[in-house]
Amino acid sequence: MSRGEGGDPNIDTRRLHGKYERTLVRVGEIRCKTLMGRSGIGSVDYSINPYLGCAHGCVYCYARFMRRMGHAGEEWGSFVDAKVNALERLRREAPRRRMGKVLLSSVTDPYQPLERKYELTRGCLQLLLERQFPVSILTKSDLVLRDLDLLKKFDRCEVGFTITALGDVARSAFEPGASPVEARLQALRELNEEGITTWTFLGPVLPYLTDEGLETLINELARSVSRILVDRLNIKCGNMPSIRRALSAHYPDLQPLFEAALKEGGGYYGMFRKKVTDMCRQRLIPCEIVF
Ligand code: SF4
Repeated sequence: MSRGEGGDPNIDTRRLHGKYERTLVRVGEIRCKTLMGRSGIGSVDYSINPYLGCAHGCVYCYARFMRRMGHAGEEWGSFVDAKVNALERLRREAPRRRMGKVLLSSVTDPYQPLERKYELTRGCLQLLLERQFPVSILTKSDLVLRDLDLLKKFDRCEVGFTITALGDVARSAFEPGASPVEARLQALRELNEEGITTWTFLGPVLPYLTDEGLETLINELARSVSRILVDRLNIKCGNMPSIRRALSAHYPDLQPLFEAALKEGGGYYGMFRKKVTDMCRQRLIPCEIVF
C-alpha cells in the first residue's frame, strides 16, 4: 500500500453523516496493491476493505491492529484512508478469481461516512455484480440502503448489521460514529421487505449493557432477520484502554462489574448465553453462539 497525495484533511464527518457525535477524522488517500484478498474467515472466500481505518471508532474494535499500516500511535477512529485505486484493482482482480463469497468488509466498515463521498463500496458492488460473486455485507450504517438497487440484482446477497445493545447511550459510548441503533433496525426492516437476506451480529456482548432491552431487541429482530450470531467481548488488539475510558466516562458505577464479567470463567457470559438462547428459541430465530 502506498500513501498518496491529496485527501481532505480534517473532514467534518457531520457533513457526511448527518447527525453523529464524531467530528474530526483525518482523511488520506492511498493506493493498494491488492483489494480482493483471500479471507481467513471460514464462511467467506474473499474480503474487500475499501478503506483503511474506520470513522465509526468503536472502542472495542478488534481491527485497530490496522494502525500498523502507517498510523502507529494514532487513535483508532481518528483517521481513514480511502483506497483510491480500489476499483482499478478490482477490475483487474475479479476476473482472475475463482467464484466465491466476498465479505465487505473485515477490518473496516464499508458504509462508514466517507463512503458517501468516495462511493468505493458501491463501485466494488457494481464490479462484483458483473460476475455475480455472492456478497456478504457487514455494517453498522444505514447508508447501505443507498445501494439497494444493486443489492437486489445479486443472485446471492446478504446484509448483516452489528448491534451491541439497544440503548443509544451505549451506542454513543461504545460506537460513537456509527448509525443509531434504531436506524440500523429500520434498515434491516427495509432490506428484509425488499427480499434481501438479513442477519444480525449481536456482539460483542457488553456485560449488563447488552441485557438492557434485550427482549425488545430480539422481538424486533424476529421480524426482520433470518439468523442471529452472538459473540462475547474479547480483550485483544489493545482495546482495553479505550473500553476503560468509555466506561469511566459513561458508566463509572458499572465499571467494576463489567470488568469482573470479562475475567470470570463463565458466570456472566454463561447466564447471557442461556438467556439469549431461550429468547431466540421461543421466537424460532436460528441463533448461533460462538463463545
Ligand atoms: S464499525 Fe467495525 S471496523 Fe469500524 S470501528 Fe466499529 S468494529 Fe471497528
